[in-house]
Amino acid sequence: MTSSVQPGQVEPLDPAARRATDQIDPYALIERAERLLNTEPHDAVVFALRAQSVARARTADTLMARAHFVAGAALMQVGDWSGAIRQLSQAEQVYRAQSDVAAQCRVITQLATACCELGEYSEALDGFAQAQKLARQNHDAASVRRALVHQSAVHTMLGDFEAARESLRSALELPSGSAADEGLVVLQFGLVDANEGLRAALAGDAATVTRRMAEAEEHFEVALELLAGTTDRANAITARTQLGAARCWRGQFKQGLDDLKGAVAEAVRSGFKLREVQGRLELGFHLVAAGREQEGLAILAPSLQQAEELGDLRRPADAHERLSALYEARGDFKTALMHHKRYVEVKARLDGRLSTQRARLHEARAELQKLRTQTAALHQRTHDLEQSRSRLERLALEDELTGLANRRAFTKEFESWCARARGSALRFGLFVVDIDGFKQINDRFSHLTGDAVLRELGRIVRANLRDTDFAARLGGDEFALLVADSEGGAAVAAVERLLEAVRGWNWSELGTGLEVTVSVGLCESTSFGDSSELIQRADEALYAAKHMGRDRFSVWDGDRA
Ligand code: GH3
Ligand code: MG
Repeated sequence: MTSSVQPGQVEPLDPAARRATDQIDPYALIERAERLLNTEPHDAVVFALRAQSVARARTADTLMARAHFVAGAALMQVGDWSGAIRQLSQAEQVYRAQSDVAAQCRVITQLATACCELGEYSEALDGFAQAQKLARQNHDAASVRRALVHQSAVHTMLGDFEAARESLRSALELPSGSAADEGLVVLQFGLVDANEGLRAALAGDAATVTRRMAEAEEHFEVALELLAGTTDRANAITARTQLGAARCWRGQFKQGLDDLKGAVAEAVRSGFKLREVQGRLELGFHLVAAGREQEGLAILAPSLQQAEELGDLRRPADAHERLSALYEARGDFKTALMHHKRYVEVKARLDGRLSTQRARLHEARAELQKLRTQTAALHQRTHDLEQSRSRLERLALEDELTGLANRRAFTKEFESWCARARGSALRFGLFVVDIDGFKQINDRFSHLTGDAVLRELGRIVRANLRDTDFAARLGGDEFALLVADSEGGAAVAAVERLLEAVRGWNWSELGTGLEVTVSVGLCESTSFGDSSELIQRADEALYAAKHMGRDRFSVWDGDRA
């Protein structure tokens, strides 16, 4: 599986595997990817991507972000920096939308690390500064510290050792953290020394090498002590490797080579492939430097190959450069030239790969921008859809002209009132209200005036309603009201109030000479069978009110009707 995935390529899932993911727990996939991160990064990528396809199918945002984050971290391990940036940016987008500052800070730190590896140093520094700001906002000293350590690493890469130490000093000013966190700071202090020493070694400045490597040794010793008891085995191995190398540079070969061997053995035990290879490269180089050339070259040759296979071109380039300088100092110019040529060749490939990755990164950024716009548009559309759906729902139950409930809503409500009345939990009055001579109003004034009258009557009905009552326009000029607790003449009082309000309204505002009255049929929810029986009773009472001369109400009583 490891060899089938190249950096930057995604192993496509076949349809059967895709179907299988439907039954797979995405959390299990992500956890598996996280476990494989340091030891089998290629496999970690595959599992993280599977988790993504499952998460995508379930539109689970947080899960998706976590899967993007793990995939990004794994791609970084295999040297696919632009692929990593693509994944991490997607995670960052989700965390930003969720305002999850802690997660955002973690992702930005990784993103900046990837930028740094691609040689985009100023972007990397920006990223670490941003991560620091977020972490400070969150009062998260541990994350501020980590960002400062990374920042220091960028300055080191740029050869600005003073700035690198300055970042670390700021890290020391933070409230003290866990042994692992403090160990990381000290480790980085050592790396600054070692890199400065290494630069001096390439320039042939022996005095500086000795001084810097002595400082580095002290730092690595402390770092190792701090990291040894923690779960951060990866950095403990790095500290041990670096300690061995620093000792070798100072000429303490016996102890130094033992440290390097120990670091390699521990990396093998822990399954940290990349660190194992890095340890072997150091071991091989220092064996050669110690004069054990055959032994050293026997370790170097396969390790150079393996490092490249794992996606690390930087260290092989470094190794050749150092070997070239070593042989040159010994006066073996032929071998020095051979390593120099190898150095130039590997460096060219590294630069080529970085520039391809940078180009891909720019593409990825453009793609991401497009994605962002699309997401925004999608959100807008969803919002619009929701709005129009709730509008439709409202319209389905609302009478457009008056804003009262429509017949459909009334029927639903009425059925539920009837059900409660049958359980005798409620006694209510049903009014059917009909405008008197409405046809004439339409004819004399206009249909528009007629509409205005309906709207106005709707307002009057609503104004006379108690919270517990319910009003609807059934259609045409007919309205219905449900009035709760109608005992003791309460319903009669309510209907009289309504008639009075209609009479008292200044209708001539809608048309000169316009007068409006209504007739009301009223019945109570006593001893009824079907709900339609009540409607019929109210209708009969309304008919009676109209018959008796309109502008009045009539109460249904079985005898008269
Ligand atoms: P009555 O006193 O017997 O009720 O006489 P009426 O003229 O009011 O008779 P009826 O209630 O049967 O008339 C209803 C009229 O309402 C018939 C129709 O033209 C009119 N109408 C129905 N819907 C609307 C509407 O939405 N707007 C307007 N302006 N008129 C409507
Ligand atoms: Mg009418």
